[in-house]
Amino acid sequence: MEYVKLNNGLKMPILGYGVYQIPDLKECERCVIDAIDVGYRLIDTAQAYFNEEAVGNAVEKSGVKREDLFITSKIWITNAGYEKAKASIEESLNKLKSDYIDLMLIHQPFGDYYGTYRAMEEAYKEGKLKSIGVSNFYPDRLVDLIKFNEITPMINQVETHPFNQQNEAHEIMKKYGVQIEAWGPFAEGKNDMFLNEVLKEIGNKYNKSNAQIALRFLIQKGIVVIPKSTHKERMNENFDVFDFNLSSEDMDIIATLDQKESLFLNHYDPETVEYLASVH
Ligand code: NAP
Repeated sequence: MEYVKLNNGLKMPILGYGVYQIPDLKECERCVIDAIDVGYRLIDTAQAYFNEEAVGNAVEKSGVKREDLFITSKIWITNAGYEKAKASIEESLNKLKSDYIDLMLIHQPFGDYYGTYRAMEEAYKEGKLKSIGVSNFYPDRLVDLIKFNEITPMINQVETHPFNQQNEAHEIMKKYGVQIEAWGPFAEGKNDMFLNEVLKEIGNKYNKSNAQIALRFLIQKGIVVIPKSTHKERMNENFDVFDFNLSSEDMDIIATLDQKESLFLNHYDPETVEYLASVH
């Protein structure tokens, strides 16, 4: 495993496992146990995935020591604001069956996320959160948060994949020492990513799949990735990306796939805000 060092010195695996859209708790528990067995040590959940307790159960049953794992969760919009966020951190700790969370993120830049951030800064100082950060913060929101708070977020988790490479946003994050983390590293298969001919041709050279080429591309750019799969053989495939290097020519070819826009949601669109505000 390779690691990145966050701006507070914490080591974070560059490859992890995400559990979005695995709402069935037994299934999620099985998936996380399988992922840990494959070798994943970073697990990415969220209050809004409604499966934190499954992650907590899996960690307990996995046989791997808590300190060898890196658990991320995220505070949802309905828990925005100092008091609610503070209570929700306790709830997440309970569900995850742990007295600390390695990384807590503000899931979306809406609602009273300033209040949320103050609760997170406090829990960070108390040692309940080992690192804190944000998700889906476009550059303007990120810089605003940094300029008017004490602690610079350690992470910004944003949609990042070969079709939306986030190069400009990444530069801003680098400027402020914020580590970029990719959600949807496969764009959830949109644009036929798993069949894309450009990735396939490159993959043939290295004897790797499109999924592995996409992950390797992001990892070589220093981006933390958290692919999701409910299939153990795919978990293995997605983990097997550390035995080859893409040449700079191949990196340049993949760079040309960038469409520089979201395949999911535009956070500047009022309809996106209306939609996210309605998710409870
Ligand atoms: P993703 O990882 O880009 O794609 C997951 C999809 O790809 C699933 O349909 C999975 O199917 C399939 N897949 C996985 N590995 C494959 C392989 N080797 N070959 C073919 N198909 C494969 O999408 P994501 O789950 O949205 O993103 C990853 C994680 O990012 C999430 O789980 C979550 O933790 C996080 N996330 C965060 C946010 C946010 O707002 N912060 C938003 C979205 C996601 P199977 O499961 O059937 O194998």
